[in-house]
Amino acid sequence: MNNSRIYLSPPHLGTREREYVDLAFRTNWIAPLGPNVDQFERELAEKVGAKGAVALSSGTAAIHMALKLLGVGRGDRVFVSSLTFIASVNPVLYEGGVPVFIDCDAETWTMSPQALERAFEEAHRNKQLPRAVIVVHLYGQNADMDAINEICAKYRVPVIEDAAESLGTTYKGKSSGTHGKFGIYSFNGNKIITTSGGGMLVSDDTAALSKARFWATQAREPQPHYEHAELGYNYRLSNVLAGIGRGQLELLDDRVAARRAVFDRYKRAFADIEGINMMPEAEYGYATRWLTTMTIDPITTGCTPADLLERLTEANIEARPVWKPMHRQPLLQYYPYFPHEPGSSVSDTLFEQGICLPSGSSLTWDEQDRVITCIKQTIQMKSRRMSHESA
Ligand SMILES: *Cc1c(COP(=O)(O)O)cnc(C)c1O
Repeated sequence: MNNSRIYLSPPHLGTREREYVDLAFRTNWIAPLGPNVDQFERELAEKVGAKGAVALSSGTAAIHMALKLLGVGRGDRVFVSSLTFIASVNPVLYEGGVPVFIDCDAETWTMSPQALERAFEEAHRNKQLPRAVIVVHLYGQNADMDAINEICAKYRVPVIEDAAESLGTTYKGKSSGTHGKFGIYSFNGNKIITTSGGGMLVSDDTAALSKARFWATQAREPQPHYEHAELGYNYRLSNVLAGIGRGQLELLDDRVAARRAVFDRYKRAFADIEGINMMPEAEYGYATRWLTTMTIDPITTGCTPADLLERLTEANIEARPVWKPMHRQPLLQYYPYFPHEPGSSVSDTLFEQGICLPSGSSLTWDEQDRVITCIKQTIQMKSRRMSHESA
């Protein structure tokens, strides 16, 4: 039997990437600036419907720049989704800010407007309103931005959308990442499209984007002698990598369709297994299913997510638990947290029961068969054992 490694979300390249990279070589634009960077910014802004975009070395750098643009500094509070990857939070700490974590809801797995409202009410009472809110669109599903924007507008707090996992997603017909003051995308190797490493900051505020571009280029003043009046960063994207990005961007719609097809097949395969529930798709949007995620109820199935992950690992299949919530990370556990309902944390349950399955757009039919078979066999074995034990 074929036992080659099946990855969670490997890069999936087309043919045009090479042409744009060759262009950089031919014209000797091997620099963190150049025509591929300019074009990639323009093409991405157009694709998502934003007025402008700044290509950066990572999605993390893009979040950092967005926070700087909103003036987040020492002691400033920033509300952030708790169920996410650490990169949503680290830039808050770079600036000496205080993250306050907001739970998700079970319907979308993204920021719970209910928890957000409670966090704002308390912050208002204590005169500690946040300077920004970072909303994460998890696993390619958009958060309910109308509800979230309404709450944030009431308190006049700007929103940053962490759309690192949701490029290609729409919310009420409009691109993920274009519903707040700033949006950020990531082109890390495991994302839906990749430049091997890279990110993008988008906004309709083109003056702010110019400022980010300036900071990201070592805050170099327009003087021939390298004049510096502000603290800067080396955050620009290389012109070579931007070439990969241009080729990848042309394929985005195909990649989204492929990931959705992967999800649909898993969903059909597990439809009759009681105790497995796929991550729901909110009816207001179009999710990319960047990763297929599901929960497994150990009581109904007799199988814990850890059992399943162990079997998948043995079969040389890469799978992962759902993100460990930020409020449970040793680095971050002492910061405030607002669960969906007092005493009832949705992200904790999702972490305990959720797993992410191989979801790449290049996953073959046979590879997906292997994953499905492995999961079905494991659950059958465990449930048989469970019925023996109870007999
Ligand atoms: C990948 C990711 C990021 C960070 O992007 P990098 O390009 O790796 O810095 C930020 N937020 C979320 C939710 C991510 O999944």
